[in-house]
Amino acid sequence: MNLIIFGPPGAGKGTQSKFIADNFNLFQLSTGEFLRKEITNNSEIGKKIASIMNTGSLVSDEIVSDLIEKIISNKIYNNRIIFDGYPRSLDQAKNLDRLLKKYKQKIDIVLKLSVSLDTVKKRILERRNLEKRSDDSEDIAIKRYNTYEKSTEPVIEYYKKMNLLKVIDGERTIDQINKEIGDIIALI
Ligand code: AMP
Repeated sequence: MNLIIFGPPGAGKGTQSKFIADNFNLFQLSTGEFLRKEITNNSEIGKKIASIMNTGSLVSDEIVSDLIEKIISNKIYNNRIIFDGYPRSLDQAKNLDRLLKKYKQKIDIVLKLSVSLDTVKKRILERRNLEKRSDDSEDIAIKRYNTYEKSTEPVIEYYKKMNLLKVIDGERTIDQINKEIGDIIALI
């Protein structure tokens, strides 16, 4: 089974992805993390990625697609990938379909963790009090939430039309969300 997980910052996407990966023996492909790894490797491609990521822009579709293909084509990860951070646009969604077809795979389910802006603000404030993270200011949180909602909307619509979308109420406790996701996956 391959799945995609969507959720704004503060929705608990990291926690839930880890739960799914551990419980269903899946591999979490977080594009942001993979790109950051390339940067620490200091490879030629890593240097190129760093110069783009440091400006806050998206890395080119080609670079991310090559990275995704490396994982999809690897037999170890065959049919057991959680896509996190990809696709981020309709072009990327169509490219993902093309790659999966090439390696005789498909997406089985798309999960969207849904939370209100008020909850995101509250959670980020709590985290800031605990960890004092410099990127957790309320202004930045609002900006990231709005950018996220706007950019993922067409992609979410795309999967809705394909009947693959499950919207999960992310306002509840971690355990309640774990349970719902576990039940959905067990049915696939
Ligand atoms: P994230 O950790 O998902 O917030 O991603 C961090 C950064 O990695 C983004 O700001 C982009 O520069 C880059 N990135 C991650 N995923 C993608 C993607 N699907 N397409 C293009 N750039 C991406």
